[in-house]
Amino acid sequence: MKTPRQIEFDAQTLTLHWNDGPAQRITSRALRLACPCAECRRLRLDGRALVVPSDIAILEIRPAGYGMQLVFSDKHERGIFPWVYVVGLPGPAPELHLPNGPRARCSNASAASSER
Ligand SMILES: [Zn+2]
Repeated sequence: MKTPRQIEFDAQTLTLHWNDGPAQRITSRALRLACPCAECRRLRLDGRALVVPSDIAILEIRPAGYGMQLVFSDKHERGIFPWVYVVGLPGPAPELHLPNGPRARCSNASAASSER
């Protein structure tokens, strides 16, 4: 089973070091928005946005067997995040993903290949 061998967190970011893969970083805000508790799930199902302060922080992590329970700075602590769920969460966007947008690389591609 995929479990973290080490968990680090500060106010903004949680870092999970998995036993069988690279470390995963997730922002506190992303975790709060993805809270799997019944209350938050209900809001998402209803299409209502969760109200999350931009400076949301993780205050405490409690072990929950198959996952972890997170205590957030907005006093929300009902969500238990199973490891299998956490693995699928997006990390902080390292680069913009623009499937149909202009590709900045195109102008450099010919230059790079002619250099070779
Ligand atoms: Zn919740």
